[in-house]
Amino acid sequence: MTIYDKVFEIYQEHYLCIHCLGRMFSLLGTNTTNYERGRSLLMALTMDNHNNYLSLTVDNESAILKLKFLSEKADFSPARKTLKNEGISALPSIKKKCYLCEDIFSDLSKYARKAKEKFQAIDYDNFVVGTSIDSEIINREEGH
Ligand SMILES: [Zn+2]
Repeated sequence: MTIYDKVFEIYQEHYLCIHCLGRMFSLLGTNTTNYERGRSLLMALTMDNHNNYLSLTVDNESAILKLKFLSEKADFSPARKTLKNEGISALPSIKKKCYLCEDIFSDLSKYARKAKEKFQAIDYDNFVVGTSIDSEIINREEGH
């Protein structure tokens, strides 16, 4: 199974945010972030299927279905825009909650603000941030 097949398999079951998608492949590649890893996978799949759609030698119905899948199941806007540019309609984006993190990454500024408040009473030059992940998230992630 290729990493691209794995992406389709993941989204067949659940919606994941781009951070969590990238984390599913965190052992692959270095010197990058989970977000970059996840976005790169979705972008490469979008580009590959767009290329297949444009190719006269490939079954472009299959490419359209995969672009629609990326647009709808992964809520990936570049796939949606690619379809739109080709005159193909896709279902509109529907706000989904990430199955693994329940959209914790959309609240990062809130957590940063709370940390900043706590640090105001401390004299420091730098600091290290650690996290402890809720066991529910770990269990959902290991279920994959
Ligand atoms: Zn997530």
